[in-house]
Order: sequence, then structure tokens, then C-alpha cells
Amino acid sequence: MSGRATRRLWRVAGAGALGVLALLFVDRTEATVGVDIGTAVQALDPRAGDGAARHTEQVTYDDDDLELVATYLVTGGRLDAGAPPAHQELWAIAGQVLPPAQLAEIRQLNVVSDGPNGTLGMVHRSSMVADRWVLSLDRAETPTVLAETLVHELAHLVTLRRDDLRAGDEECGDHDVQIEIGCALGGSALADWAGAFWTDPTQPADFDREHFVSEYAASAVHEDLAESFLAYVAHPEEADTPALAAKLAFFDAHPELATLAAEVRIGLALSPAS
Ligand SMILES: [Zn+2]
Repeated sequence: MSGRATRRLWRVAGAGALGVLALLFVDRTEATVGVDIGTAVQALDPRAGDGAARHTEQVTYDDDDLELVATYLVTGGRLDAGAPPAHQELWAIAGQVLPPAQLAEIRQLNVVSDGPNGTLGMVHRSSMVADRWVLSLDRAETPTVLAETLVHELAHLVTLRRDDLRAGDEECGDHDVQIEIGCALGGSALADWAGAFWTDPTQPADFDREHFVSEYAASAVHEDLAESFLAYVAHPEEADTPALAAKLAFFDAHPELATLAAEVRIGLALSPAS
């Protein structure tokens, strides 16, 4: 591909387990192809039973090059104390970025790697415990990249819940919107987003920078929402076209998302949206 999208990324200093993240904006040219951030939705397994909460679960990765390095349970926002310091530091970045309520929804951390770039991180819906998530983070990424990835994943956590999306092949209801990964349920931010900004929400769109904050955003409705949320939180000045401004204004009109964005900005010491 000829075009390369520049995007502002964060530089994070002092990302130790107890450190405070200081953020500076830096320009970085990022590769335009490759799955950089992922989402997987899996169905809840009714056979999981009451003991499920005490066990880790397997998730599947589309990326064959991704190595699963370690798996830990997370309880009430705290990582398994047996995790080594390097993995505690990864978790500390999640603690810095995610508000406490969303941090508490993560029941498992998978430390993964395919080297720098490539896959950065992803969330899977838990198949064992309702409304809980498995977070995967690539240990080869810098804290800067991981912090930004976590803001993107946060958008998934709050817009791909069971009240937002029904995964699977079932036909969508009258008020739902069929998207690539299932039915965005009527009244959800996800369905509103698809209706407002996508002409065909069932397949990838052609990227153009007037309408999409990144190439990855054009890959699917839910990725567009997550990438745009990241822009809303961290670099709203890049929404310099009417279409992008409308996407950022969407979050202003959805109080749960606007409030979350404000929480994340405070946690990361970013200035409030202008
Ligand atoms: Zn994503």
C-alpha cells in the first residue's frame, strides 16, 4: 500500500508498577497493514458452572504467530500475586488506563507476543463468566503503545457487552443492526454508531482519511467506534474534517462514553476535551 497514516501516539515515562504515567505526544508513522488490535466475541458456555470463576479459560487467536506466554486470573482488579514483576508491570498499565469498574470486569490476563507491532492487544468476552473479559496484551510493545491500545479496548468493553451485541448467526430483530460480528442491539451505542456512520455495516469500508481516524477504523463498525473513541480521548485535534468531527461529537451525546473518556484523561493526565 502506498499511503501511510501518521497518528499521534503517547510516550509513557515511568511505567513501573507504582509509577505514575507521564504522557507526551509524539508523532509516529505506523504501518498501514496488519491486524494491530483485535476483538473476539465468544458465547457464554452454560456448562461452565459455579466453579468457573476460579479457573482460567482458553481463547482463540486468529494470528498464528501469536505466542501465549502466560495466563493469570484477575480478581477484583488484582492480578494473581504469583505473576512475575514484568507481568505485574503490564497489568499496572491496564490499571492506569482503565477506570476501576472496567478493570474489575477483566477476569483474566493473557500475556502474549508476536514481537513489536503486529498484534498489540485484544479483549475476548469470557466464555465462563457472564459480563467478564479476557484481556490479552503483547509484552513486546512499549508502555506507550499499550496505553493507547487499552483505551481502544476500553471502548470494546463498554460497547460489546451482551446488552449491546448478540453474536452468532441468529437473525437480527427489527430494531437491531446487522454488523459483521453479529447483531448490534437496538438502542445500543454500537447500533447507533452503525446507523449514523456506516452505509454497509456488514463489511469493511474503503478507508479514506476524511471519514476514518485510522485505516484500522475502516475494517469494521466496532473497530471504527473504538478507534474514534481513542481519538476522542487522546487526540481530538485530529478530527479535522466534518465527518470526523461528527464522530467525536457522538461521544459527547452518549454520557456513559463521555464520562469514561473524562475518567481516562484524568488517569493519564491528559487535558480535557476542548
Ligand atoms: Zn478493536
